[in-house]
Amino acid sequence: MNNESKNSRNIPLAIQREVRQRCGFGCVICGLPLYEYEHMEGWAKVKRHNANEITLLCDQHHREKTGGLLPIEKVKNANNNPFNLKNNQSKPYTLHYSGKKPKAKLGTLTIETNDNGYGTQFIPLLIDLIPIIGFVLTDGHFLLNLKIFNEYNHLVLNVVNNQLVYKADLYDIQLVGRKLTIRKGFRQILLEIIFNTPDIIEIVKADLYVNGLHLTIVGEKITINNVNAEINFKNSTMTAPVGISIGEYRGQSAAYGIEKINRYKIE
Ligand SMILES: [Zn+2]
Repeated sequence: MNNESKNSRNIPLAIQREVRQRCGFGCVICGLPLYEYEHMEGWAKVKRHNANEITLLCDQHHREKTGGLLPIEKVKNANNNPFNLKNNQSKPYTLHYSGKKPKAKLGTLTIETNDNGYGTQFIPLLIDLIPIIGFVLTDGHFLLNLKIFNEYNHLVLNVVNNQLVYKADLYDIQLVGRKLTIRKGFRQILLEIIFNTPDIIEIVKADLYVNGLHLTIVGEKITINNVNAEINFKNSTMTAPVGISIGEYRGQSAAYGIEKINRYKIE
């Protein structure tokens, strides 16, 4: 270890990830997905970055520990048995979606809709009748719904009417500012989203799987099962209650739909 990293307060990224995984991607006391890295014995005392000596605490619990209201023993106990790992999911976090004109950006494609009164459903991405990205209008504002699966068809992230919950046994998930990133392996991004509240969701990058379908979104390229989607999505805008629909489909008209498509076998 060179002197610079030895004396720096900045925790190396690999150590941060190790701490996140071990702590179930949330405050070890309450599970909140918004947290800080905390040297349990105090940075000033140890002046080193050892993953086993670092834990995750939310703002409130960090302040309580610093102020002495939260005893170090309690933090250590929680660190040995983190809140999110007990439940195998994160503590629900409420996103602040409340706009009247919801928009979804999938790479460079924009999908939007009009407010058609109470109960209006807006589904930018529908796969096998599952709203992967959806908004529903209640009490005068739209609430976000989102379902993200991994390649084994397990739901890893779920947003139900603004309430965000994710699995605690992922390789990596981080919510930093408005950006949420899920990785399925070292430098392998499953999803990068920007929660541009109050009314825009931006899928910057995605490598999604649903029922044996594989969907990728990178820039202006949307591919389904490694085949370029047929229409040009570059900087275009769709206005419809359903944007892209893939697989089983009935009812509302989608701006872009593919019904018959090959599937891979889920192991
Ligand atoms: Zn907390």
